[in-house]
Amino acid sequence: MNKKGYNCVVCIKQVPDTKRIGPDAMKEDGTVNRAALPAVFNPEDMNALEAALSVKERYGGKVTAIAMGLPAACAILREALMRGADEAYLVTDRKAAGSDTLATSYILSQAVRRFEPDLVFCGRQAIDGDTAQTGPQIAEKLGFPAITYLEKLDLEDGVAVAVRDIGTGVETDRVKLPALFTVTDRYGELRPPDVRRVMEYKKAKAPAEGGEGSGIGQLSCDDIGCEAERCGFAGSPTNVSKVASVVLAGGEYREIPATDEGIKAFVEGLVADHTIG
Ligand SMILES: Cc1cc2nc3c(=O)[nH]c(=O)nc-3n(C[C@H](O)[C@H](O)[C@H](O)COP(=O)(O)OP(=O)(O)OC[C@H]3O[C@@H](n4cnc5c(N)ncnc54)[C@H](O)[C@@H]3O)c2cc1C
Repeated sequence: MNKKGYNCVVCIKQVPDTKRIGPDAMKEDGTVNRAALPAVFNPEDMNALEAALSVKERYGGKVTAIAMGLPAACAILREALMRGADEAYLVTDRKAAGSDTLATSYILSQAVRRFEPDLVFCGRQAIDGDTAQTGPQIAEKLGFPAITYLEKLDLEDGVAVAVRDIGTGVETDRVKLPALFTVTDRYGELRPPDVRRVMEYKKAKAPAEGGEGSGIGQLSCDDIGCEAERCGFAGSPTNVSKVASVVLAGGEYREIPATDEGIKAFVEGLVADHTIG
């Protein structure tokens, strides 16, 4: 910690609201029909923002929010400013289109690096891609330790005392900063917007939104020193070839008795029809 407190960067993603999937949620080509789904602040990124704001509140410092995406993602950056972030940046560039987690984490790591953070926060996972890879991949590229599934955090003179959910209980880690944390909904809810901040930031825009460009900074891949071949389609070994909305109709499920015999019969059935084994 320096005398100004801790420098926190939080990565936030705008995602289609997958809870509101209707019959028109998928296009015929199997891709997500983003026009049919409202765009929202990725839920666990709200918890990540709360973690960053709590650090600022308790120990002093600064919170910078970064979103990579289309200009529409400025909506969540405005939201972050209204909830207490000090600065917000949109990383937007045609070169970033089609990025998988490898390219996304490369571009975001280049953006994060320029702010020289003590702590970086991400959500555990985004509700559209659902991979939970981006946070740890950013950490790897920055050379920071990655603490996943964060649910509580204290800081002691440049050392983070982090409580992580490990499924069967919790684990407490002590880790030297700088470090990256991926945050779950167990951390605690994001604080509500502050009325004065709502008035201050409701018209904040990035240049890509077509306005004058005030309140939200904008970065291109060139601005953050990205190599073109590591961005977008060029830098993405993964292709999502098809997305299917699976809705089970009546008769398409079986109930398995919660007994040893029931489970044995179920596993034998899976082996017999070559689903496993
Ligand atoms: C249905 C579907 C399936 C996909 N499957 C794969 C796949 O198998 N492999 C693959 O490499 N890609 C996949 N993708 C692409 C993937 O969504 C993108 O690479 C995406 O940019 C990051 O991955 P994620 O959504 O899984 O994020 P996650 O890794 O789940 O996100 C974790 C955290 O990283 C941060 N973060 C992620 N993206 C951004 C962003 N754009 N801006 C700011 N912060 C961000 C947030 O804090 C977020 O909570 C898929 C996309 C879709 C729509």
